[in-house]
Amino acid sequence: MSNKKNSAVKMESIVSLAKRRGFIFQASEIYGGLAGFWDYGPLGVEVMNKLKAEWWNEVVTKSDNIYGVDSAIIQNPKLWEASGHVSSFTDPMVEDVKNGKRYRADQLAGVDSTDLNELKELLLDKKSPDGNQLSEPRFFNMMMQTWIGPVQDNSSVAYLRPETAGSIFTNYENVRETMRAKIPFGIAQIGKAFRNEISPRDFIFRVRELEQMEMQFFINPDEQEKTYEYWRNFAWKFLIENLGISEENLQWHEHDEKERAHYAVAAHDIYFNFPQGFKELWGTHNRTDFDLSNHQRVSGKNLAYFDETAHKRFLPYVVESSVGLGRMLLAVLTDAYHEEEINGEVRVVLKLKPELAPYLYAVSPLLKNKPGLVSKAREVYEILKKKYGSVMWDDNGNIGKRYRRQDEIGTPNCVVIDFETLEKNTVTVRNRDTTEQKRVSIDEL
Ligand code: ATP
Repeated sequence: MSNKKNSAVKMESIVSLAKRRGFIFQASEIYGGLAGFWDYGPLGVEVMNKLKAEWWNEVVTKSDNIYGVDSAIIQNPKLWEASGHVSSFTDPMVEDVKNGKRYRADQLAGVDSTDLNELKELLLDKKSPDGNQLSEPRFFNMMMQTWIGPVQDNSSVAYLRPETAGSIFTNYENVRETMRAKIPFGIAQIGKAFRNEISPRDFIFRVRELEQMEMQFFINPDEQEKTYEYWRNFAWKFLIENLGISEENLQWHEHDEKERAHYAVAAHDIYFNFPQGFKELWGTHNRTDFDLSNHQRVSGKNLAYFDETAHKRFLPYVVESSVGLGRMLLAVLTDAYHEEEINGEVRVVLKLKPELAPYLYAVSPLLKNKPGLVSKAREVYEILKKKYGSVMWDDNGNIGKRYRRQDEIGTPNCVVIDFETLEKNTVTVRNRDTTEQKRVSIDEL
């Protein structure tokens, strides 16, 4: 299933397929869209749900000591003061002095750095992409603000969460107590987060409203190295084994000091070979006791853990595993996307892992104007639907066109009901990847 020529996949091809087949639409498209916001269509939502289920099953359901939460998007703003996001969740920005357009200073300078002096130096002779003079770089806070209640002033300011982790830390004690959890244990959450990115781009890669799948593992500080290794390996293995992504499209990237987020002492990202190049997909971070100690300080609540065996009190360290769902979908689509020549014609095919395809089967009557074939096909459709759930009825256009359409949405099997079916109770099953057709009895499907 590997896609060796991945670097040849163009973003336009993915964007166009996603739109044409109902995976992803521009948010409020009829009003011209809104930069950094996307809607997931009928097929997109199916794959997203499967990705979430796969992750949840592996992280929470199969585990003995990782618990799920689903917390509010808006929390007490003190949470984001304690976490450092109010003061440090910033990106360096420069402005085109003529038209006011804003850009990420590090990206214009072509470096992974947030050092304003270094950026200033590198951008000294640079112009904006529109050819105008640039302002000096400065920091810009990426949290989205809103107001709570009827009065819009400083006292009613609140933030849409910039990451799901924050409310995992504030629920640490609740989960520990109610689940009688002993260190080590983890808390996981899937949910929306919001970041006022200066320049959203690359389709669903960098957006302003995103969905994250995060897990924070609370440990004894002595276990930090072992735990960090475990969760790094977990992410790598998950992408390959659970999602079927080809290993050659993955790379490790270790953050140096300049790149690391304010909360981490160690960070390793898995980069995926996206159409725009190798970029961050999944981060593993050692957050130490940064979060719990800050929440303890700001809230005044004692968050120390008492280890009964060692008779020791300590603040747990945290290793986190954090991945964006949209980026995961983009990686899965890019990895699966193939253009192949068959009998002189180019076909687009999504070689998705069958478990992730929007539909496992498509069922068609050979001809849609033969009532005998249609009713038999309906019967087969009902049987498969009951058995597998994700089955599509497709009687549009001729068989060749149906195969092309199903290839594009990654349906692994197309079942066709023809005149032989009526006599022998057998159907043709066409395989997406090999395009081979086999005759099998209906009971064997
Ligand atoms: P980047 O360096 O790309 O801005 P980050 O290092 O700030 O990302 P984290 O804060 O570690 O990212 O977030 C964890 C994960 O959430 C990322 O690995 C990524 O998959 C996803 N993510 C972060 N920001 C965005 C965004 N603007 N759009 C889509 N996904 C995102």
